[in-house]
Amino acid sequence: MNILILGSGGREHAFAWKIAQSPLCDSLYVAPGNAGTASVATNLSISFNDFDAIANAVLENNIELVIVGPEEPLVNGVVDYFESREDLAKVKLIGPNKAGAQLEGSKDFSKKFMQKYAIPTASSQTFTAETLEIGLEYLESHPLPIVLKADGLAAGKGVIIAEKHAEAEQAFKEMLLDGKFGSAGNKVVVEQFLKGIELSVFVLTDGEHYKILPEAKDYKRIGENDTGLNTGGMGAVSPVAFADANFLRKVDEKVVKPTLNGLKSEGIKYVGFIFIGLMNIKGEPYVIEYNVRMGDPETEVVIPRIQSDFAMLMASTAKGTLNDFDMQISSQVAVTTVVVSGGYPGDYEKGKVISGSDKVEDVHLYHAGTTFNGNTEVVTNGGRVMALTGLANSLENAVHKSQRAAQAVQFEGKYFRHDIGVDLIRYND
Ligand code: AMP
Repeated sequence: MNILILGSGGREHAFAWKIAQSPLCDSLYVAPGNAGTASVATNLSISFNDFDAIANAVLENNIELVIVGPEEPLVNGVVDYFESREDLAKVKLIGPNKAGAQLEGSKDFSKKFMQKYAIPTASSQTFTAETLEIGLEYLESHPLPIVLKADGLAAGKGVIIAEKHAEAEQAFKEMLLDGKFGSAGNKVVVEQFLKGIELSVFVLTDGEHYKILPEAKDYKRIGENDTGLNTGGMGAVSPVAFADANFLRKVDEKVVKPTLNGLKSEGIKYVGFIFIGLMNIKGEPYVIEYNVRMGDPETEVVIPRIQSDFAMLMASTAKGTLNDFDMQISSQVAVTTVVVSGGYPGDYEKGKVISGSDKVEDVHLYHAGTTFNGNTEVVTNGGRVMALTGLANSLENAVHKSQRAAQAVQFEGKYFRHDIGVDLIRYND
């Protein structure tokens, strides 16, 4: 089988690395990919938002299965596009159609969905420019802190947690009146603040059956001890100590099953990943958000723990036979540390030569923002440059392996957090 992965991050390198090991995979392509995916697949220099170009590449290379990494093409309807073309009828995609992708593409949709199907989540109300005055009154009496969310995709920046009423009002007006997040902020969800411990659970569904993949905790802030600006993710850990069997059973019963049943009731055929951001509040799960794809860097700790053939897992998902799939998960602990360009998540320079990555040992090295300068030299090409995953029998050893590798990789301006997973070691104590 010929397989195409859409995307260019660490998530896509992890997918490609795993799929390339499968006897089921004949040729593997990544569009557009990075310097890491080039070592296990053929990179196609196509944007993942250019559906015509993707379709041409699929036909040219006899690709039967397309795995969609990021949310943008899903929200923009890549699955619907493929379904609308007769010449692509045989091609299967892993990812939901536009209707299903609303779970991530519209916070208003996902909140209404959760309310309708009694899925535990923070209470909320949605406002538009027309209901601005009612919204401002609502904010005035809302307990602090107040969570404000732009309805549409905002590259992970659309959530504001206001500690003061004045701050909430200002952010609210900026979104609705000044177009701070463009059309993504035409609707604003005002939400109750949930206090607990955060983790992510990943579900893979073929539309009928589902498997729960290993859970993970990610580290979003740029600074150690979770300080400073939000990023795409500075590291991740799997498994998560505070997600015990009892908690995960509750997640399955109270969140996963009602979500999948709700999608069916809405007439949405959902094939692909559902990433559920959860708050564990005194042992009870509350949904913070849905994403309609795997997380990055969470994939870089989830994939190394999946022992089963991943291409076969994807093929079973496409065929609708996920219930027959025997999923083996390693009990080892995975910790990934992301090395980033100096200045990220603000402005940063690209094109810095990366060295030392050939010297890292006993670690999974996934490229993210990297490319080739000429034929051989690998240089930085994004904010998040590489994710270094240590796998070990103990959290301490996994942290150590990941940190050692993050230290060994070199490029001008390199930065990484030294505390990924360290809070969980304390938790384990
Ligand atoms: P989201 O884009 O919805 O995942 O939100 C980004 C981050 O904001 C989450 O990962 C949480 O850390 C935080 N957050 C979102 N909603 C809430 C909430 N209702 N209560 C507390 N924190 C939240």
